[in-house]
Parts: sequence; C-alpha cells; structure tokens
Amino acid sequence: MIGKTLKELGKALTEKKISSVELTQLHLDRIARLNPEINAFITVDAQKSLAQARAADARLAAGNAGPLTGIPIAQKDIFCAQGWLTTCGSKMLGNFVSPYDATVITKFDVAGAVNLGKTNMDEFAMGSSNETSHFGAVKNPWDVKRVPGGSSGGSAAAVASLMAPAATGTDTGGSIRQPAALCNLTGLKPTYGVVSRWGMIAFASSLDQAGPMARTAEDCGLMLNAMAGFDEKDSTSLERSAEDYLRDLEKPLAGLKIGLPKEFFGEGCDAGVMACVQDAIAEYRKLGAETVEISLPNMQHGVAAYYVIAPAEASSNLSRFDGVRYGYRAPEYGDLADMYQKSRAQGFGAEVKRRILIGTYVLSHGYYDAYYLQAQRIRRLIAQDFVDAFRHCDVIMGPTSPCTAFGLGEKSADPVQMYLSDIYTIAVNLAGLPGMSVPCGFSAGLPVGLQLIGDYFAEARLLNMAHRYQQATDWHLKSPKE
Ligand code: GLN
Repeated sequence: MIGKTLKELGKALTEKKISSVELTQLHLDRIARLNPEINAFITVDAQKSLAQARAADARLAAGNAGPLTGIPIAQKDIFCAQGWLTTCGSKMLGNFVSPYDATVITKFDVAGAVNLGKTNMDEFAMGSSNETSHFGAVKNPWDVKRVPGGSSGGSAAAVASLMAPAATGTDTGGSIRQPAALCNLTGLKPTYGVVSRWGMIAFASSLDQAGPMARTAEDCGLMLNAMAGFDEKDSTSLERSAEDYLRDLEKPLAGLKIGLPKEFFGEGCDAGVMACVQDAIAEYRKLGAETVEISLPNMQHGVAAYYVIAPAEASSNLSRFDGVRYGYRAPEYGDLADMYQKSRAQGFGAEVKRRILIGTYVLSHGYYDAYYLQAQRIRRLIAQDFVDAFRHCDVIMGPTSPCTAFGLGEKSADPVQMYLSDIYTIAVNLAGLPGMSVPCGFSAGLPVGLQLIGDYFAEARLLNMAHRYQQATDWHLKSPKE
C-alpha cells in the first residue's frame, strides 16, 4: 500500500483490503525508519493519528465514508491543529500547542482523513530550501546532500520518500510549486481566496494560499475538493458556490491554447531543465494543444516587488510574537521593552529578522512611497500582464524552477541567489492566480517540474491538463531509490 495514490488507497479502504489503522501504522513505521535522516516531520504523534484512524474505520464500517476517509495525510506545520505542537518551523513557537484547528485541518477532519503528523518547513515559510527551519534542514529524498526546496520542503520530502501519501503546503511566492518540482510531486496553488487562511499562521496575508501536494493531479483534485470553500472566519475568503475540481479531469485537450511567455524561455534557466520543459510542451502538442508565444513584460520586476510586499506584510504579521501571549519568552530580562527585545532576538532566526527589518523599513514614513507604493504599482502591472495574456491563450506554461535541487548550504549564504529560486512562480502569487507544478522529466538524475498557470478559478482546467499529461507520461510515478 506504500506508494499508492489517494484514489487507490480510498478504493482499498472501502473494499476492506486494508483498515485505516493498518494503513496509518504502515506509514508511521516508514516514518520511524526514514525520518531520522530526511527530517521531513517536526511532530509525529502515533496515538493521535491512530485514534483518528480508528474513528475513520468506524465510518468506513458504517458505510458513510468519503473519498479521503481513513487516508493519512501530512500537514505542514503552519496549520494550527488542536492539541498538536504547531511551530511554523520557528523557535518562537517551539512550545506552542494549538488550542484550536485551522479551517484546513477541520476540513480534513470532516472528510475523515487522518493527520499523519506536522511537516518541517522554512521558518515562518520564509525560504526556498527548507534550511531556515529551527528544526534543521530537510533532505531531498532524491539526493540527501541536496535541498527539497521550500518552504513546504518537509511536505515535499515526506511524500517523495513515501512516508506520506500526500501532504498540504502553502504558497506565498512558490512554496508549493518549487518543492513539488524539486521532489517530483504534483502541487497546486489555488486562486487566492479559494482555500481559507484561518488558522494558517500568517506570513504575507495578501499572497498566502494553501494547497495540495501529492503524486498525481487527480489526488490534488481530491484534496482540493476537501480543502476549498468559503469561510466567514477569513475576510479574504471568496464566497462562491462549491465546485467539483475533478469534473473536467478527462476532457480532451484538442484545441487548447497554451501561452508560452518569452520571459520564461530566455536566459536564466538551466539547459537541462529547459530541455525537459520543451519535451513536455511537445507532448502537449501531441495531445492536441496549440502553442502561442505571449509576453509578460513586467514579470522581470516580480521578485523585486515581492521582496518589498511580502516582508512589509510579514513585519506587521509577526509583531504579534512578543513573548507575552504565547510562544517563546526570554528566560531573563529587565523591563517590559527588554523582554520584548530579548524574546524576539532569541526566538526568531536570521532570515525572519532580515524580513522584519526590510518590511519595517519599506513601510516607514520616509520610504513608503519610494518602495512599498512602487511595489504595489508593479504588482498591479503584473496582474494586468496576465489579463492581457489570457486574451490570447487558455493556460500559460513554463518551468517551475530555474534549476533542479541544489546542494545543502549552496545558496544559504547569498539571500539574493536564494530569492531567485522563485523567478517563475512569484508573479502568480502577486496576481492571485492558480498555478501548478507537474513532474516532467529528470536532469542529471534530479526531477524537473513543469509549471501550468491558469486564469482565476481555472483549477479544474489545470487539473485536467495535468491529468491528461500524466496519462501519457510516467514521470510522476517515479520514486527515489531507498
Ligand atoms: N521563497 C519565497 C520566500 O522566501 C516564497 C516562500 C513561500 O512561498 N512561502 O518568501
């Protein structure tokens, strides 16, 4: 049962080929064996997971199971889960046991899924390599000397090493798609506002969006069906009627127009990655799609705008960690101001501090117009570029990441190099659009991801495109050697 898709596991559970308790235990055993090296999980709690599995088995026996009932799914440690340690990868929340469930966690509970554990991540989701975690770097199962990508690197490594059948991630600038690409997974970042952010620890609220990371597009659709929906507790949650994200899965691709932005196919991308992406595009042509060249002229400013906007929002969001209400408090301090300062100085890591400093600076009176306002204008232009592009095509395609998994430590000394990992993903968040990464081959033995970008609410279309490609190829079925 290890390595099976959610679809297959759901069938095995309803046909009583295996119980949820057995399936959960199988994965817990695998975690016990592999996690000491991979470090994909921050918290595993067998008792809690097995209790949920027993409840799922009762539901299965009673015949009122849904497609995810009884299936263990790993949760990124950014989601508050009642009674579970919820750290967000930070020492600041190293002792925080959540008193409530995030909406995403509640939705998986309602679906009857089993919480298999909380996955490692970059501290407060800031990073592209999972090296900024207070709980140590995660190793890429394809090569343990390399990073799994970030910030959802623990989720990616857990699924790639078959410790979990699927996992949740969050994507503020690429953190679902980039680790999915580097670990050979299928990952979907939905349209902003489709999945509730309530109880998901905030990084940059206007960009943060949760989504599924799994082995197939179909599994991503199954998860999104459970995760999505209006939530009055999140003021940016969109009030739309529920949809079945699997409804178009089998649609033929004939006549579909794929836009290839010339900015994605110029310099800056590894040749090995580009070769795989070109092969994938050729495969789509075989499936009946047409391609057109398009342009996203302002995309080149995406990373710069993001690294003003995201830190600005983070500096505000992270002001709540003051050592008073919850989380870390310095053991020794003088007056109240000293307690704040010492708690924050000791509780946050270097990258988080860098972002708070940048964010505070760009929002300060003298610099607001020059940086923050300017970045917001660029954001608007980027969103407009996509509106213009979607007049000429149905979906946009290109690489997810400019390179395959890089070495541990290789980019950690140079933040700008690290920030460039997201050159192809960040614009999608700035515009609030849905995006996917789909396995499309290997370069020097390391996985490559193809990025699909859709218009607002085109999730079902993206899943359809990914699914048809996965019926014609088997890249997504490949797993690393143990
Ligand atoms: N790598 C980007 C950053 O460091 C994006 C992270 C994310 O999507 N959470 O901010």
